[in-house]
Amino acid sequence: MTVQLGMPQPREDDRSVPAARPADAGAGLVDRYGRRATDMRLSLTDKCNLRCTYCMPAEGLEWLAKQAVMTADEIVRIVRIGVDHLGVRELRLTGGEPLVRHDLVGIITELRRNHPALPISMTTNAVGLAKKAASLKAAGLTRINVSLDSLHEETFTKLTRRPFLDQVLAGVDAAWAAGLGPVKLNAVLMRGINDAEAPSLLAWALGRGYELRFIEQMPLDADHGWTRRNMITAAEIRSLLSADFVLTPDPRARDGAPAERFEVRRRVAGTPDATGPVLGTVGIIASVTEPFCSDCRRTRITAEGKIMSCLFSREEFDLLGLLRSGAGDDDLARRWQDAMWIKPKAHGMDHVGLDAPDFVQPDRSMSAIGG
Ligand code: SAM
Ligand code: SF4
Repeated sequence: MTVQLGMPQPREDDRSVPAARPADAGAGLVDRYGRRATDMRLSLTDKCNLRCTYCMPAEGLEWLAKQAVMTADEIVRIVRIGVDHLGVRELRLTGGEPLVRHDLVGIITELRRNHPALPISMTTNAVGLAKKAASLKAAGLTRINVSLDSLHEETFTKLTRRPFLDQVLAGVDAAWAAGLGPVKLNAVLMRGINDAEAPSLLAWALGRGYELRFIEQMPLDADHGWTRRNMITAAEIRSLLSADFVLTPDPRARDGAPAERFEVRRRVAGTPDATGPVLGTVGIIASVTEPFCSDCRRTRITAEGKIMSCLFSREEFDLLGLLRSGAGDDDLARRWQDAMWIKPKAHGMDHVGLDAPDFVQPDRSMSAIGG
């Protein structure tokens, strides 16, 4: 079944390229524009214990019914098809908040048993992670990404609408201690709320050996409060950081990574010069203003088993429904390939006018897609 979402067609799609996947399209998750998806983002749940303003509403979001969400066995089967039949080479577990799933350790244990060499990472808000980090590592989790937008209790609580900063900081340290490194931190800057904190957040991360990445806010909040004018752009982020640091492009190849990485040195006060050694790196994910769609390698599965070829896809393909109807691996793989074939060429957000009245934001918020 195909569900239409309320997005305008990305402007750059080429109508001359066939929409139906040809028989000779080749193996794996290829699309009409020659990209190959090898990086799978799988959402374990739509539920969350925070209410970040750029993602979820304060209240009133309808949850998926329990029976609509993929079971552990279904997740394990879908990942096996992705890896064994379709060339998936990397898995990221996300949500909603993956830690709220009671069977998380069991899921990771099974995934690791089936795929001994597969990098399996998880994006989490780290609430409750301190208690679980060691068992996640023992189950076979490779690495962790933690969302952390502020180190100030009041700002954290304003942004997430929950007073859990201490738990998050304990979770980050526990992940590091458990060997779930390199720990990457994700921060979304909101104008007038935590943007001024960018340099101190970076200094804190560098001091602990964590890799901080700033993410441009995308129009994926359930409150539909995003505006182009109000978002903090990658250029602004670089400028905010330049008060304290000198950033130089990381010589390592980007290799399809969404973050543009920079080496970071301390600035000599009042001069354009850097001083001392490289302190670490910082990443900037400029999804809106400097998009990386042409090199996108992601395929997404929502918590209810829908395939999304892009965060801003207009269509979703129901993989779980097909699986529950008794379909074999080959049929499931084919549906996945068909869904990915029509991946949009670009999300179109970098074009002007997104906050104009005719811009229609996707129906799903980030928590309901799986970021
Ligand atoms: N709950 C987990 C967490 O927060 O890390 C995993 C799911 S969350 C949807 C995944 C990532 O999406 C987080 O790093 C979060 O900051 C990011 N995110 C959520 N809404 C966003 C938005 N509107 N724009 C940009 N990033 C967003
Ligand atoms: Fe929850 Fe993550 Fe969304 Fe925040 S960003 S509300 S932690 S799903």
